[in-house]
Amino acid sequence: MELLGESAVLYWGDERIAIPKLKHGVLFLMSGYIGSQINGCEYKIHLDYLRGRIVNEGVIGGLQEHAKQLGVDEDGLGLELGWNPVIVNRGDEGVYFFNSKMRNWIGYADFSRRFIQEVSLVMVRRDVPILGLPDLVINLNNKPMYIVELKTTNNPANLKVVRGREALQAESYFHMMSYLGLNPRGVAVIKVVRGSEFRVIDNIDVIIKYLEGGEDFVRLARHAVIHKINVRGFNDFLKDVDYSLDYWLGLRNPRPSPSKGLCSNCEHRRYCPYSVVR
Ligand code: SF4
Repeated sequence: MELLGESAVLYWGDERIAIPKLKHGVLFLMSGYIGSQINGCEYKIHLDYLRGRIVNEGVIGGLQEHAKQLGVDEDGLGLELGWNPVIVNRGDEGVYFFNSKMRNWIGYADFSRRFIQEVSLVMVRRDVPILGLPDLVINLNNKPMYIVELKTTNNPANLKVVRGREALQAESYFHMMSYLGLNPRGVAVIKVVRGSEFRVIDNIDVIIKYLEGGEDFVRLARHAVIHKINVRGFNDFLKDVDYSLDYWLGLRNPRPSPSKGLCSNCEHRRYCPYSVVR
């Protein structure tokens, strides 16, 4: 990806794609946005870009737990405690982030390895690049078979619940891999309590066993649960992608979804006109 003045160009195979102007100056979407726009509060994303978002100790703790669980370094872009502007997909930082993630593009992956952490997926829809960063891909017989998204929490009661936006984020990875012709067999969300002794990459055989079994929800350890994600057809997913893109392309306004659960955890609740929790 290259920035030319205020617009950007994606070089994709032999193609040169002029990325259309997107809301808030973003250059590409993170695939997780689709889940948040459809099943969370889209207006929160709108405010995140207008006002910034809070990085708290929970966010830093989540990154540290991811690093431990996956055996990787977590390099949050500009993450300091407090309010941070969203720069991951805007301006020079956005281009740097996208291009650095492309060094781990799944097309370069070695599927003879047991698993691959933090590989990058790309899909282009209506000339907009969409970047997906699944936590783990498990390979079998030299092919990518299972995708695992890791979610960490401080509250054991949260282990049993996969939110709609988390499920759609995981589902997006499945469809993005299928779009690239890689046809995975399944996708799951693993939820772990931060600080637990369970470690994902030390339990790959157990995870495969449950992914190949019939149950949708299995406890892997006292503080770790795996949830299989139900994957819809590709066209249903594309409808969600297009609905999300309509906002970024400026074709419709952001949709608020106020609720006690969402607003009470939202840093914008005090001034958001739709908030139900002040
Ligand atoms: S306060 Fe509620 S309605 Fe407003 S952005 Fe946050 S979650 Fe959405």
